[in-house]
Amino acid sequence: MKKGDLLYTGKAKSVYTTDQADRLILHFRNDTSAFDGAKLAKLDRKGEMNNRINTFIMGHLESAGIATHFIERISAVDSVVKRLDMIKVECVVRNIVAGSLSKRLGIEEGFDLDQPVFEFFLKDDALHDPFINDSHIRAFSWASDAEIDAMRTLTLQVNDILKPLFANAGILLVDFKLEFGRDGDQLALGDEFTPDGCRLWDAKTRNKLDKDRFRRDLGDVVEAYEEVARRLGVPLQD
Ligand code: ADP
Ligand code: UDP
Repeated sequence: MKKGDLLYTGKAKSVYTTDQADRLILHFRNDTSAFDGAKLAKLDRKGEMNNRINTFIMGHLESAGIATHFIERISAVDSVVKRLDMIKVECVVRNIVAGSLSKRLGIEEGFDLDQPVFEFFLKDDALHDPFINDSHIRAFSWASDAEIDAMRTLTLQVNDILKPLFANAGILLVDFKLEFGRDGDQLALGDEFTPDGCRLWDAKTRNKLDKDRFRRDLGDVVEAYEEVARRLGVPLQD
């Protein structure tokens, strides 16, 4: 697989074409951002750690029956994926109140939800990823009814699959964000699942093991990601 042209530079990954039209390479950089790009840093080894964690989680989801774009990890910081026509909404599931839900509803961070909460956001940094609902997605034709249903169902399924995976590693899956794209007439899970896009708390101490360490200047960001990888049994060497 040959790396072709740079297609897109995101906040944390660069996306390259390849010699196959339906394949892309995701290059995981050390760049870290928060608050829609307002806070930036480079964190040594973050790209490599996220590429390893993402490979492990995508593989686990595939084996549990979720269609993903993931094909293979080809270097410390690169993975090959199926090219998708990405849907510009972010799908969030929450098991414990944190982050924007806590602010929006004035509910204390750490409140355990009896049932998961599902939310859509528009993927648009300039607008600070506003909270939206099904009706906006339909009215502006960002996705069809069937796609809206599929995104919600698949995101909740991913939660059912990953909650026990993390629980067995002594970690609470607090919340996470997924992005989906079209692969022909099917939806597939795209982008990444890493501590950059979810909240993970130590089950005993509720210490943060995710990007909130960066957002809130808690330090040891990549060390926490490495701890997550170690507990999950993600291979840390080739
Ligand atoms: P952002 O765009 O939010 O800054 P990243 O730095 O992670 O995020 O950039 C990766 C970009 O690649 C995202 O815009 C994501 O939607 C897109 N992407 C992820 N997977 C695929 C895929 N399989 N096909 C096409 N685009 C993808
Ligand atoms: N999230 C993300 N990208 C975004 C927005 C949110 O990966 O652009 C993740 C975030 O890391 C958390 C979950 O989605 O795990 C819910 O985020 P929230 O709405 O609480 O927003 P935040 O306050 O973290 O910006």
